[in-house]
Amino acid sequence: MTQEPVSDEVCTKTEGWDHDDIGKRIEKRVTANGTYYNELIVNVFCQMCGAEFIGPSREAGGFLGGHECLHAWEFNQVLSRDDGLTE
Ligand SMILES: [Zn+2]
Repeated sequence: MTQEPVSDEVCTKTEGWDHDDIGKRIEKRVTANGTYYNELIVNVFCQMCGAEFIGPSREAGGFLGGHECLHAWEFNQVLSRDDGLTE
């Protein structure tokens, strides 16, 4: 498997990404949790509710995981379970 760079374009923004930034690379992003290097800006959406996210791949993962978690909880509520998120 050969891995070609998606883009050589570098994004200097550290927040406020939009459609024009998709596919660019953030060379360095400092957060309270740590410093991220060479992250791609990606565009993802939730298949359950249609919410959309544009931002660093790390945050996109959190977006998708967060929605998955929420919708699983909602699904359990529909099934009349009163114990919240248990799995
Ligand atoms: Zn969702």
